[in-house]
Amino acid sequence: MRKVFLLTLIVLLSISSCKKKDSSYSLTISINNNGTVNYESGKYPEGETISLEATPESGYRFIGWDGEDLESPTDENPITIFMDSNKSIIANFVNIDNPDYSDMGFWADEIYSSIDWDLENNFSSIVEAFVKDGERHGVDVSHVLENDLKFELVEEIPGAKANAPGTCWKNRVSINYVSSTYLAEIESLKKGAYGYSNGIRYDGDVPSIFKTMWHEFGHDILNLGHTCGDGFIMNGSGGCEPGIVASGGPHSWFSNDNKRSIRYQVKILFEGVGQICYQNGCENYSGDNADDYCNAQN
Ligand SMILES: [Zn+2]
Repeated sequence: MRKVFLLTLIVLLSISSCKKKDSSYSLTISINNNGTVNYESGKYPEGETISLEATPESGYRFIGWDGEDLESPTDENPITIFMDSNKSIIANFVNIDNPDYSDMGFWADEIYSSIDWDLENNFSSIVEAFVKDGERHGVDVSHVLENDLKFELVEEIPGAKANAPGTCWKNRVSINYVSSTYLAEIESLKKGAYGYSNGIRYDGDVPSIFKTMWHEFGHDILNLGHTCGDGFIMNGSGGCEPGIVASGGPHSWFSNDNKRSIRYQVKILFEGVGQICYQNGCENYSGDNADDYCNAQN
């Protein structure tokens, strides 16, 4: 009897020690630029709830968290982590006066980081990225890769910095961009963009040329017209009722505010949510018809 009890005890002890061995997970924290996080990388017990807080060094700003084990990037701070698996999390900081967003957020995205911004010489690179972006939002526009692809720098476009003369043509993607603006935007590509709304400064890691190009592709490839909504990529002249101005502002990879989140705005661009189909204009072109993507989507 005593022997059985002892054996049971040993078995129970070994089970519990075995369980103990498995009941922690590793938390790996990486830091981009100058700042600290209140937890260190290491093993933490299974089931533990951890409140991670990022603190920038002076002269720096915290822009958000990402990492493969976060459901989505976020600029919430602190964030709550539940240790139900190994976690690998990145805290991203950026210099306030001289921001460089290289390797983080928008610039760490597999598709966007692959764009060759020498649009004059390698226009197919950005068109391919747009096709891949559509793919991850469930939209197949791969037919455009067989089109005649044309990008041109021009002296001036009245009232705009770019336009899409290829709109309505089935076999052509054609974008014009004002030369001086293009050169200036390429120069400061990884410095992001910022703007003010009600006196509050908003910073974004998304270069303005990206939004302009996705806007023009919205016209040319998705057959979308201008719309009017806070943060919409397709905002433009005539999209709003007279007297109403849709707020744009810089977009961020990390923002939880849909108006400022580039991930949200690109998603609704491809899904057609809140977008307006381009109408009438196509009648100006003889011999070819607009792609009917937009009407199918809306
Ligand atoms: Zn436009």
